Amino acid sequence: MGGKHTADILPPDAGGIAQAAELLRAGRLVAVPTETVYGLAARADRVEAVAAIYRAKGRPDFNPLISHLAQIEQAEALAMLDERAMRLADAFWPGPMTLVLPVREPLGVVPAVTAGLPTIALRMPSHPVMRALLQQFDFPLAAPSANRSGFISPSRPEHVLQSLGNRVDAILDGGPCVQGVESTIIALRPDGWQILRPGPITQEDVSALLGPPLQVETDTIEAPGQMTSHYAPGKPVRLHAEQARSDEFMIGFGLVAGDVTLSETGDLAEAAARLYQCLHEGAAASQPVIAVAPIPQHGLGAAINDRLRRAAA
Ligand code: AMP
Ligand code: MG
Repeated sequence: MGGKHTADILPPDAGGIAQAAELLRAGRLVAVPTETVYGLAARADRVEAVAAIYRAKGRPDFNPLISHLAQIEQAEALAMLDERAMRLADAFWPGPMTLVLPVREPLGVVPAVTAGLPTIALRMPSHPVMRALLQQFDFPLAAPSANRSGFISPSRPEHVLQSLGNRVDAILDGGPCVQGVESTIIALRPDGWQILRPGPITQEDVSALLGPPLQVETDTIEAPGQMTSHYAPGKPVRLHAEQARSDEFMIGFGLVAGDVTLSETGDLAEAAARLYQCLHEGAAASQPVIAVAPIPQHGLGAAINDRLRRAAA
């Protein structure tokens, strides 16, 4: 699986989606577009297919995967959705939200997907091509971001080609990802909720439906993937930079100009959508260091700053 030759690029039409579906049904790896980042997908109910994801990414096997589905009934078959889960699902699915929920026995995915945890991470993406693909299956697709473990996430098919081009069977081309940062991961606990990973659905969005989150400092057991160093461009990153030093590739924002900018107008949605493209450009630049302008912490800024901190760690 994966193998020696470069991945086929499949067009986002009925023919391309059918080809991707056929490969996935056969247990192969296909990079798929979502509204957040490109995913490295395989069917979540086959041991060999899921093992191939971990192998292709070089991902540690204690880091569980998100299961992607098209229908709420599939979520109910895999996990225990309480009234809070249904409210969030109504509000934010399909969309960039992942729910961590207690598993329903017997587990409907192979154990490697949950890394042996009593919880499972579920998401219903909104990207029309991904939705059309998921609608072909009665099994979920396990899909982490389509990059080698620890490196910058892919927001365009070219990024997948660069890092995993000879390790996936095909890349389904859905264009550049419109949200650009990974889904918000929300854990629903018996006594409240918490955000395990900030993303496009903000804490304010969730609080409006469920009230304030649990007060907890860190979550090391249930979010093993939230490692400090992640999204790394392979060179030092300096944050909160007001201007570039001579050896730096500068990523600007708002009034702080750069070699590239996340958003000249200071728009956080645009900045999120451009974040990984800018980091990829910084990684490929001749300068040995990447500097990044300050990004406000409100709204989507929380997710952007989270990724930047890990890129700099
Ligand atoms: P990725 O798809 O590569 O962006 O990573 C998926 C993220 O989901 C990782 O950070 C995992 O730690 C997290 N995740 C998956 N399943 C669970 C779970 N059951 N509990 C907590 N976090 C999870
Ligand atoms: Mg990832």
